[in-house]
Amino acid sequence: MKEGRSANQFPGASSIYRPSEISPKDSFRALLTPLRFLKGVGPMRAAQLEALGLKSVEDLLYHLPFRYDDRREIRKIHQAAVGKIESFLGKLVAIDKRFVPKRRRHILTGTLTDGTGYLGLVWYRVPPYMADGLSRGQQLLVHGKVERGMGVQKRIVHPEFEHVDLVDDGQQRKILPVYLRPNGIPLRAMRGWVRQALDAYAVHVSSCIPAPIAARQDLQDLPRAMREVHEPESSADPASLNRFASDAHRSIVFDEFFYLQLGLGLRKKSRSAEHGIAFRAGAHPLAEKMRGLLPFSLTRAQTRVIEEIQGDMASDRPMQRLLQGDVGSGKTMVAWFAALRALENGFQAVWMSPTELLAEQHFRNLSGFAETLGVRAALLTGSMPAKARMETLERIRNGEIGFVVGTHALIQEGVEAPRLGLGVIDEQHRFGVGQRMALQRLAGLRKSAAPCMVSPVEPQPDILLMSATPIPRSLAMVLYGDMEVSSLDEMPPGRTPVETKLFKEAERSKLYDLTRAELQKGHQAYAVYPLVEASEKLELRDATRMFQELSQGAFNGFRVGLIHGRMNTMERDETMRRFKQGDLQVLVATTVIEVGIDVPNATVMVVEHAERFGLSQLHQLRGRVGRGEAASHCLLVHYGKTSADALARLRVMEKEHDGFKIAEADLELRGPGELLGTRQSGIADFRLANLARDARLLLEARKEALSWLEFDPALRRPESRALKEVLKHRWGGRLELGGVG
Ligand code: ADP
Ligand code: MG
Repeated sequence: MKEGRSANQFPGASSIYRPSEISPKDSFRALLTPLRFLKGVGPMRAAQLEALGLKSVEDLLYHLPFRYDDRREIRKIHQAAVGKIESFLGKLVAIDKRFVPKRRRHILTGTLTDGTGYLGLVWYRVPPYMADGLSRGQQLLVHGKVERGMGVQKRIVHPEFEHVDLVDDGQQRKILPVYLRPNGIPLRAMRGWVRQALDAYAVHVSSCIPAPIAARQDLQDLPRAMREVHEPESSADPASLNRFASDAHRSIVFDEFFYLQLGLGLRKKSRSAEHGIAFRAGAHPLAEKMRGLLPFSLTRAQTRVIEEIQGDMASDRPMQRLLQGDVGSGKTMVAWFAALRALENGFQAVWMSPTELLAEQHFRNLSGFAETLGVRAALLTGSMPAKARMETLERIRNGEIGFVVGTHALIQEGVEAPRLGLGVIDEQHRFGVGQRMALQRLAGLRKSAAPCMVSPVEPQPDILLMSATPIPRSLAMVLYGDMEVSSLDEMPPGRTPVETKLFKEAERSKLYDLTRAELQKGHQAYAVYPLVEASEKLELRDATRMFQELSQGAFNGFRVGLIHGRMNTMERDETMRRFKQGDLQVLVATTVIEVGIDVPNATVMVVEHAERFGLSQLHQLRGRVGRGEAASHCLLVHYGKTSADALARLRVMEKEHDGFKIAEADLELRGPGELLGTRQSGIADFRLANLARDARLLLEARKEALSWLEFDPALRRPESRALKEVLKHRWGGRLELGGVG
């Protein structure tokens, strides 16, 4: 066979695939060995480790050091430099444990000498394992930050230490891993267990990445990479280790990304093998008329995204597209144009919103246009009288109604839309990955009672998901790697950015003055708190108490309302409605108001304890104002001793108004779990990869995974056998890959 020429060969593959000697299945079994089987890990230690998420030897191997100590250089004590982290080798000439009544605990002090001077060692907390571990005459290697001591003597507080042989034979001059570990477990023990795991199990960490890819990406095999990250050679570069940028780190991170992208790619492929509706492209009379009805012209971004969607809709594969765009970027219109395409082809379109209020809002915004265009539209809500609802359901079932807006819950109950062509899922970022998958299935609702049981010959409707939480490209590739993504990255013209300012809690009166001035002009204001009610554990202001305080104090004489997540949806919607109508002037709230509500007359957003919110969340909250003509204000109040980091983070809000840029900053500062909220983080929680740091590697891994799928779309070739096993082991459950292959 000629190299790289045959269509049957993966580009770059020059050798015949050789499966490794150990079958992946046996390896997975070995890797699942519980940690208590390691020497020195009893039931108690095992339970402690498990609390940290470490159950199996595989978990332990993937528990990478978060830092490395460079102990290759051993200093002389007389050269100890205050403020530096250094290592010393010497003899313990004094050790003294005494009780300090004022602190009501023991403190342990020691003195180390190497002949050039004396170094103090201090432990304010004495872990039980140390009490009997140290005695005079022992030879120790100590490591830590040198501080000025009481007199001339320098000292190290809470040094790390190791017992060493009497001679300095260089054995201790190493780069040593530092692990996150349970309280009371010494580093030495952790290192020992990891070494055992490496010796006995590292060979089983089979990566199975195809050889051509490994060669192109210059990857180490995983057993070797594992060894190098846990026990670096003394010739390694500690700086690159500490940046997680060593070859070994890169290999492990690539591996992790590769399999996720392979799984997502596989999902996407299997779905696009389904049969969809090919909507007629070309002439688009309803859209043409619609453009004439708009009081504005579409932005370039809107036009571009509408075209992307129409392209998908014209294909005979079902569309799975996410539309992301900042609050106010005009997503509604884009989705409406998609709906028109389905409608003029004689199909139905269903629009699902997370709350009744939002469903009502969209319906109100669109029903006028629908009427003018001759489209029959209906709103479906839980608060409709039963009779009217039954009638509407019947008119949807017999095809009389073409466009339906409703809540997810309601539609879930069993709307039959026999000619469903498009499902729009609004504000989808509020749902976790699992729920999103369920919604996607749901959007394929059909005549059958169980919406997911669609007969294979019936074409799948197109799905458009919308999200108002812009996320960075890297994160999108992870969370939405199984669908297409469109971004509205341009705001309609004429918006003035919301003026954002930080306040200390002591400056509260200024903030109230500003708010009252806006209220007197006839505008409205939100005040958001992190808690519903006072908490014993956290000293935070809460919405319930502040509602009392503000109505009688700062906003006495104004009409103040309260809204939070513990109220039921009916109460909540009712309060929101009153605010929208202007019955209420100030709305004291928790973050429940984050989503989608449009009150153009509201011009002030106060967020208290802003230091406790993520940037993306603050940006979402800020998006509630600045929706009308008048200039708006976002006032962020921070409390107590806000750290310099937290302040720097909040300052981003003052300068930046682009949701995509804010999301980048948030990802960098806090990671995906925080950015998305716990519910969504499932897939984005990598063991080692960091999306902000490793974005480029993610791109490479995606490219390689997709090209492998080009070569073997369903992973059916023998070359993919091992790959498929690893994929199932790693992501099978989380990506619902059960049905694949
Ligand atoms: P999103 O759903 O993305 O938060 P909306 O679709 O609700 O944003 O749009 C916000 C506001 O901007 C609406 O009042 C809408 O009518 C208006 N709008 C949408 N597109 C444009 C445009 N191209 N030019 C001016 N205003 C627009
Ligand atoms: Mg919207």
